[in-house]
Amino acid sequence: MKFTNLTRHTEIGANSYYLEIARHRLLLDCGMHPKYTGEDALPNFKAIGDREVEAILMSHAHQDHIGILPLAMRRFPAARIFMTEATAEVGSVLLHNSVNVMTRQREEIGEMSYPLFTHREIDRASERWRWCPTRQPISIAGERAAGLEKETLTFEFFDAGHVLGSTGVMLRGEGKTVFYSGDVNFDDQTIMQAAVFPEDKIDVLIMECTRGDHAKPDGWTRPGEEQRLAEALAAAFERDACVLIPVFALGKTQEVLAMLHKFRRQRLLPEFPIYIGGLSSKFTDIYDRRSHATRRQLPRLKLMKDVAPFILNDETVRDTALRGGRVHVLSSGMMIPRTLSNVFARRIIENPKHSIFFVGYANPESPAGLLREVGQGGEVALDPDKPPQRIRCNIEQFQFSAHATRESLVDYAKRISPKKIVLVHGDSPAVEWMRASLSNELPGSEVIVPTPGVELEL
Ligand SMILES: [Zn+2]
Ligand SMILES: [Zn+2]
Repeated sequence: MKFTNLTRHTEIGANSYYLEIARHRLLLDCGMHPKYTGEDALPNFKAIGDREVEAILMSHAHQDHIGILPLAMRRFPAARIFMTEATAEVGSVLLHNSVNVMTRQREEIGEMSYPLFTHREIDRASERWRWCPTRQPISIAGERAAGLEKETLTFEFFDAGHVLGSTGVMLRGEGKTVFYSGDVNFDDQTIMQAAVFPEDKIDVLIMECTRGDHAKPDGWTRPGEEQRLAEALAAAFERDACVLIPVFALGKTQEVLAMLHKFRRQRLLPEFPIYIGGLSSKFTDIYDRRSHATRRQLPRLKLMKDVAPFILNDETVRDTALRGGRVHVLSSGMMIPRTLSNVFARRIIENPKHSIFFVGYANPESPAGLLREVGQGGEVALDPDKPPQRIRCNIEQFQFSAHATRESLVDYAKRISPKKIVLVHGDSPAVEWMRASLSNELPGSEVIVPTPGVELEL
């Protein structure tokens, strides 16, 4: 079995992994780096030379996992593409949005290779995506494969509890089993239910490490954290503040909307207006349409109707009134320059009355990461093209991660005690913590941090 990490660094970037198993060649995910542009934003396909791949298995529709799928399909024209139906629906919206973003970037930053693909190409490509249910073994040729596992390579999707449609992928072939976690959460969120992952022994576990450098705080519970957020909002309203919550358009937006809905219903807070962006509203529509067809909490909650957020776009975000008591749940979560959250943050950051609440992961070098790091009183340039600003607004951090705690990742690995554990999808300190603790807790397992671009024999 051969494995190559196609990310360019040990990081959460353009996630893509090449796997050769039972004489078949596959890709797991093909993402785009959320922070870089041009060549640096792509997986390093050069590392596999001119090898063809037979199938591309998608774990979920976040940009860092699906962002360059049309490009990968051009490079590997014979590949079959497998994902859940929800991932296909969300992924198509995300990729169309990405064409618009890249078209703008072509002008703004002079990246002449952009857009990397077109709207028409996405439409044609998505016709070739095959939708697969979870918990159904399927042969790599795309057929139902109950009982065929011994003769052929099969895969099976397991609910990963991360965002709508997200999965982990089990591969079985030539008597070997490989399980790729994708992005996973072992705890319930407000909408998503905890992952249901295989519990049988497996040979190789390829596991994400997003939160590897964060210990779960003592006494942390999700209900307790929700209470803390409700109190922080109440305090902000008291100050007549308007609040920004930077979020990923997919997943975190819907989780936060559901939480805000609960606060209103429980009368923890008075009625207050909520604002989201256009892309977020499209994803929220999909959550609503699929509310009864997916494994989730609050299946009757229709976010667009019941929470009724107002919608901001690139223009209106620049002049919407900064009135007290308004909550702005805007993407991008990392506050990448020119996104709604970045533009809005620059409007409120110098005013001590207003608040920015962080609720999830941010790349430490991203504007959101810098802002959290520097904190109140410091200076930060949220947009490198604009002068730095003094941080005077109130900043608070909450933990509503869509990713598993490092403790639960280690527990899972201990339960299935794989022969080999390959650590991916983490910044260096996170991966290093996971390597050290897994080596310690599972002395019988080989723990591997795959050097990007280097083929491993597993
Ligand atoms: Zn994700
Ligand atoms: Zn990810």
